[in-house]
Amino acid sequence: MAVAAATPILGIHNLQPSVVGGNELTRMETTSVQAAGVVCLSALKSATNSSCTTGKSVQFKLPKESSTKVLRSSRRSNEFVAEEEAPDRVTESQQESEPSDSTAAAAQPEYIWMSNVEVKRTRPSSFNRRWSSKDISIAGFMTFMHTMCLLAPFTFSWNAVRLCAALSFITGMFGITLSFHRNLSHKSFKLPKWLEYTFAYCGVQAVQGDPLDWVSLHRYHHQYCDTEMDPHTPHEGFWHSHIGWLFDEKPIRRSVSHSNVGDMEKDDFYQFLHKTYIIHPVLLSLALYALGGAPYLVWGMAVRLVWVYHVTWFVNSASHVWGTQPWNTGDLSKNNWWVAMVAYGEGWHNNHHAFEYSARHGLKWWQLDPTWWTILGLGAIGLATKIKLPRPEHMKRLATKSS
Ligand SMILES: [Zn+2]
Ligand SMILES: [Zn+2]
Repeated sequence: MAVAAATPILGIHNLQPSVVGGNELTRMETTSVQAAGVVCLSALKSATNSSCTTGKSVQFKLPKESSTKVLRSSRRSNEFVAEEEAPDRVTESQQESEPSDSTAAAAQPEYIWMSNVEVKRTRPSSFNRRWSSKDISIAGFMTFMHTMCLLAPFTFSWNAVRLCAALSFITGMFGITLSFHRNLSHKSFKLPKWLEYTFAYCGVQAVQGDPLDWVSLHRYHHQYCDTEMDPHTPHEGFWHSHIGWLFDEKPIRRSVSHSNVGDMEKDDFYQFLHKTYIIHPVLLSLALYALGGAPYLVWGMAVRLVWVYHVTWFVNSASHVWGTQPWNTGDLSKNNWWVAMVAYGEGWHNNHHAFEYSARHGLKWWQLDPTWWTILGLGAIGLATKIKLPRPEHMKRLATKSS
């Protein structure tokens, strides 16, 4: 899930208009996105002489000339606009956080606990940065929601718990993993418009951003996965990849430019959701309060939202830190069984980064993937069509010894 939980609550996004056009185009697009990533990582590699495939050390602080080259390569294949800001950003982040030569030489490499993921910060940490008003409002919202959860024991009722579980499933699985991620971001299958919109509306109620913002940021994550351009790479530290990136407006603003959601941007429904986004969860909150008072509000909004947030964020953090890499994707993505268990199959994240277009993430029979089972069910009754799966030649090309 990209799951991202994407932007910020008050907004997340990234592919091209050409993606819309059916299987082959989408595959080509996916390949070109991956190719852009490979070019990007290759350039990083040659600039730093470090290995990207094992995730051991992607050097972020590039000479200005190198980063420009990376961006041009990416731009050729995907026609992004926002990347032009990057050299400035690199320079800025170097100014903000680059240690002196003597400090760098003395510093020991820092790894995320129980992993081979090296922390190489290019952004100042959350605690060492000037926060914008948007950063503060998002942090305030998150703090408020988490604090509301403290009321859960005092408002407990089985009806409230059942409501929480049902809404988690509807907004987390149908809304985020099935709709925002596999259907809208990656075009892994097609749905009739009425059903596509219904599921997308469920995603809006997860309060992770409207579909345009969420898809844009997520496509951006895939294109620049685990490079300095990735808004939530764990190379910036685990806290950053899990939640800290939400409070760092600059990289998010670059990622959510809508230049990569041309296939959705002209759709009136998505424009409507983009413009009215925040009204919908407010209306749901009022309806829940009217139906069941404080217990429904606390469990149906706060507990439910916080649960789905962390589940989604674990895909960005834990599934890029701990697990196995059966496919040679050149990034840090991992197959993580416990994330897959709580995130409706999204934890098979190395599978997903290898075959972004695939509607199925759990590729082995034992890799539980409830989102895939649901798509399969929708296909069986004729509602999901053009369901994409990994191509054998693609699997052969990316397989490692552990595949
Ligand atoms: Zn994805
Ligand atoms: Zn990822």
